[in-house]
Amino acid sequence: MRMIFEPNFKKAEQAAYQLHEIANITALPVKVRKIDKHFKDLKIKPYKWFAKEWGITHEETIRLLGSDEGCCFHWKQQDIYLVLYNEKVENQARIRWTIAHELGHYMLKHNLKSQRSILGRGGVPDKEYDMYEKEANCFARNFLAPPVVITNLPHWDTYLIGELCNISFEASTHTFEFYKNGKKIGVRYSLGSKIGLRFKQFVFKVSNKKYCKNCNVSFVSETARFCECCGSDQLTRTLFLNQGDDIEMIYPVVYSADESGKVNICPRCLNEEMHPAGDFCPQCGLEVVNRCDDISYYSNHAPVFNCEAVLSPNQRHCHVCGCQSTFLRNGVLEPWEKIKEKAGQTTVLSEGFSKNPSL
Ligand SMILES: [Zn+2]
Ligand SMILES: [Zn+2]
Ligand SMILES: [Zn+2]
Ligand SMILES: [Zn+2]
Repeated sequence: MRMIFEPNFKKAEQAAYQLHEIANITALPVKVRKIDKHFKDLKIKPYKWFAKEWGITHEETIRLLGSDEGCCFHWKQQDIYLVLYNEKVENQARIRWTIAHELGHYMLKHNLKSQRSILGRGGVPDKEYDMYEKEANCFARNFLAPPVVITNLPHWDTYLIGELCNISFEASTHTFEFYKNGKKIGVRYSLGSKIGLRFKQFVFKVSNKKYCKNCNVSFVSETARFCECCGSDQLTRTLFLNQGDDIEMIYPVVYSADESGKVNICPRCLNEEMHPAGDFCPQCGLEVVNRCDDISYYSNHAPVFNCEAVLSPNQRHCHVCGCQSTFLRNGVLEPWEKIKEKAGQTTVLSEGFSKNPSL
């Protein structure tokens, strides 16, 4: 009997989405290194771990595993799968792709299908091996750079894909070509699909991220023309969110508000019980909605709101007209210059441009 070895790309794609779901991934870059915690029969380990376990050298490990990048090894005695990667590969982004590729072999059960504990060229017929490789690469692409995210951004190119997904230039070039050609022949990925809904919020955030060149702050807003922090109009688009959760914001989000903009706790007297009907604190009388301060007054003291914007409670300036906020005027929020000074020059973050390889 002659076997036909045709890669099943649809299946590889679906397996990638399945792993997003299992690992509850809703943002990029995907953190691949710790995916194994979601499985009982999977471990992701560097070559040095393997070398130590087996009491062999790094070179022997490469020879034994048949690759100087990584492999998916089925350890039959223990019935576990080891995704192993060569930690000495200098390019971290490349290691990420390798791990994702080997995870593809794992998710698609290639070891079982080929009845090999290690998949490698020479071990199985070339055509069969190629099929597994193509499926694993398709898996890695969909896992690290889901097309529903990339193709729904207002602008995407090789550079952006590389940065946003934290993948190598080589991988992002291929990915870009692939999605571009797909688009040409009419392939569309809807944010309303199951996988689309998973990343919809992330796509919104990335698409609407603004960066202020004046105070180095970035924030998400669809309509802002002025910085929410310092009121400057020096805004640029930045498609990059901070890549790790370990980056501290210098302008901390201190107050939270309900949908009408009313803070939950009075910033002045700390009263927690707001009256549903009014915008003033029932205890100390502070107006508890942060507004644009572009207000003038009639002779009878009635206010005229020249700009009607209701702001988030942490805004120092109006994102519509750049005017200061009422919370800044009445001292609920300190001026941004003061906070920046306190944070010290060394810790001032250009959040939007931080590089933080997230393995
Ligand atoms: Zn492979
Ligand atoms: Zn600013
Ligand atoms: Zn109060
Ligand atoms: Zn305004």
